[in-house]
Amino acid sequence: MTTTRKAVGIDLGTTFSAIAHIDAYGKPQIIPNSESERITPSVILFDGANAVVGTYAKQNSVAEPEKIVDFVKREMGKSKDEFHREFGDKIFSAEELSALIVKKLKNDAERYLGQEVTDAVITVPAYFNDSERTATIHAGQLAGLNVLSIINEPTAAALAYGLDKLDQNQTVFVFDLGGGTFDVTIMRIENQHIKMLATNGDHRLGGKDWDDIIVNLVAEEFDRLHGENPLLDLQSYQELQSRALAAKIQLSSRPRTTLVHSHNGKSIKIELTRDDFEKISAHLVEKTKTICEIVMQEAHMNWSDIDKILLVGGMTRMPMIRTMIQEISGVPLAEHVSPDEAVAVGAAIQGMLSTLAQEDKTGEKAVPESTREQFSTREGGLIQVTNITSHTLGVVLWNEDSLEEYVYPMIAKMKPVPAEFKNNFGTAQANMAKVVVRVVEGESTVPTECTALGLCAVDLPPYLPKGAPVELTYCYNTNQTLEVVVDAFGKQSRVTIERHTGLSEDEMASATASLSLIKVE
Ligand code: AMP
Repeated sequence: MTTTRKAVGIDLGTTFSAIAHIDAYGKPQIIPNSESERITPSVILFDGANAVVGTYAKQNSVAEPEKIVDFVKREMGKSKDEFHREFGDKIFSAEELSALIVKKLKNDAERYLGQEVTDAVITVPAYFNDSERTATIHAGQLAGLNVLSIINEPTAAALAYGLDKLDQNQTVFVFDLGGGTFDVTIMRIENQHIKMLATNGDHRLGGKDWDDIIVNLVAEEFDRLHGENPLLDLQSYQELQSRALAAKIQLSSRPRTTLVHSHNGKSIKIELTRDDFEKISAHLVEKTKTICEIVMQEAHMNWSDIDKILLVGGMTRMPMIRTMIQEISGVPLAEHVSPDEAVAVGAAIQGMLSTLAQEDKTGEKAVPESTREQFSTREGGLIQVTNITSHTLGVVLWNEDSLEEYVYPMIAKMKPVPAEFKNNFGTAQANMAKVVVRVVEGESTVPTECTALGLCAVDLPPYLPKGAPVELTYCYNTNQTLEVVVDAFGKQSRVTIERHTGLSEDEMASATASLSLIKVE
């Protein structure tokens, strides 16, 4: 018996999330939520045993700040010790909280489509590291989805933009500034193939930083006037945050705005002009500019090599961002792309490509032929998408001469994925009982300057001399998660590295069971 499978694309954003699918005519469509909105605030309100996700939760963030969780994406990849939130008698990790957001999107999509949603492609910032990606896969699985793949947000945006332009060879610079993360990526559309060429970013830079500038400005003024810091009160802080966000958005279309804030019976009124806002947030714009310049250098390109700038993320509506990117590049902006929806749409396209590839493998055809044609090249094959690694993956080794540890790069940054790299190493001493491979991620050769991803241990036969050969292979799959293979004396161990962060398999099973008891609205 074959079950009808339905794949969706999910943009799991810091401030907003969106879900899209490919309709019966082969067209990508955003699926509205049960409040008829095309994007859903990534905000959770714990209400007794239930979790309310979206606009209602966001609106209540001021009245009941202690019951609210937002900006979870910034915590993805952290262990429960590093980040957790407690509600009722349950302690939630970042991936469990994200799972509740995914569940809301899934439930609403099922209601809208009138069928079960089984599979999903979920997007992540290109600059997300290994544990952040794994946590995102877990969030989808905990919500009851089969995660087909994780794709980079800029790749998804380029897919959404390029689907009907695949016969126009061009290089696209994707500038993605969202609520909490910033990514720049250079993509090449050539011969109906979408290829990622270079990427860089800062996953702790986004709309919230601009909001915080306004929050701090008002708080300092309030303190100066009334001798009291309004940010020490959680409710006042939440109130001020939503006023700051509204003011920031107003300043995108108006030259000035007025902020009024009351706290403890005292109030303040501040007039903020766009010019002033641009001056006090110039250092943030400068940060985005520097990252653009770095990625151009890394790609060995000049702006004259770029044909289009693709703006993604709500923050790219800000004139200061548009002006900066136009000034440094002089390249025209891609039109007809919704900065809020392109990423989910691209994920849905990737979902269809994965479904079609799976059908080719199994021979079981459920997708209509007319849809297959829309996702195929002129030659009849499926549209190809190639990503690259965003960080270097290395192994920690011992240097006999300097008597120091150093990082040997196994898979360098900017290599096309999937990637597989092998190397032979010698054991450091005679009679070693096991080799322990320490896997790290980062651009430095100094182990402490890289992020430790985990360990992979393999037993060795007895009485080996010093320098006995051990073959190490790193396999980086299309989800950009890592598998390590150690080959020693005909014995091969394929190990998914033990991570320092995230949930173990047992924890995943019990988290899935306990999350299924929470009603998500
Ligand atoms: P995203 O993560 O792509 O949904 O981006 C959301 C971010 O964009 C939030 O920080 C919003 O406050 C911000 N945003 C949305 N619309 C505007 C606008 N018109 N002007 C400035 N910022 C905006």
